[in-house]
Amino acid sequence: MGEIRLHGRGGQGTVMAAEMLANAFVRQGKYASVFPSFGIERRGSAVQAFVRYGDQPIREKTKIYRPEMLLALDPTLLDKKDTYEGFKTGGVIVAAAKDHARILAMGVKPSIIGLVDGMEIAYRETGTNITNVVMLGALAKVTGLIGLGDVTPAVEENFSGELLRKNLIVLKRGHDEAKVIKFDTQAGDDDAVSLFEIKKTSCLEPKTAVFESSWSDCTNKVQIIKTGEWRFKRPVTNKDDCRRCGLCALYCPVGCVTERPSGHYLQDYAYCKGCGVCAFECPAGAIDMVLEEE
Ligand code: SF4
Ligand code: SF4
Repeated sequence: MGEIRLHGRGGQGTVMAAEMLANAFVRQGKYASVFPSFGIERRGSAVQAFVRYGDQPIREKTKIYRPEMLLALDPTLLDKKDTYEGFKTGGVIVAAAKDHARILAMGVKPSIIGLVDGMEIAYRETGTNITNVVMLGALAKVTGLIGLGDVTPAVEENFSGELLRKNLIVLKRGHDEAKVIKFDTQAGDDDAVSLFEIKKTSCLEPKTAVFESSWSDCTNKVQIIKTGEWRFKRPVTNKDDCRRCGLCALYCPVGCVTERPSGHYLQDYAYCKGCGVCAFECPAGAIDMVLEEE
């Protein structure tokens, strides 16, 4: 039985990606199971989904604690320890990212890293940060476990019309543009760790915050989440056009827009999650939403 753990952010189609992946395995004549795990149930928060596949019926009903394969749909999750929890030495990581240094910096020892700039492809082709289908294409190329011929019908079951057309483009681009980097790493004896030796904290108050939720802190009973890392576009205010009306501050759902000494209202990028509400509401059209990487 193979196990794949998917990491994404709410709104990126992580769960749908897991379902399409399981669908693709079933089309190959395999058994597959899939289920999600949510942190905070809101757009932008960290989400996991679990896919198991094999030639025998699958009876496991747990989360995947010791994945040999990780699929990361969002580059901001690559700097989080939670993403790699339990990852087996010698496993495979497929990530929406441009370089692998930040993955290795987290102390993992994969045998293969697959990379594709999923955000760029999704944004250019669909105008969104929804990388799920791009990453399925990359997973197919990097692992060879499934082919585009298995994933395409799964995608066709979930989309129609123009959305389907765009998703078939990003599926192919994810596949064709994925880079495969191989390492001389063998599976280690850490594979022998028993599930029961892994300390889980769901029933205990953890010593450090382990989930991205506002109630996960243990020291002060509250944790400030820097929601700015959820952003793929940022608002940029043109001060010359700004009428200093303050409407952007009024409408910002995270309250990160404040009046500055000059009378202008500006965003705090540590917390701005890039929803675009301020740009939509600004009566002067003074706010542009620009891609993070521009
Ligand atoms: S809503 Fe627009 S015009 Fe008003 S303060 Fe904000 S940026 Fe300036
Ligand atoms: S995009 Fe604008 S409204 Fe949305 S979080 Fe950022 S500052 Fe607030």
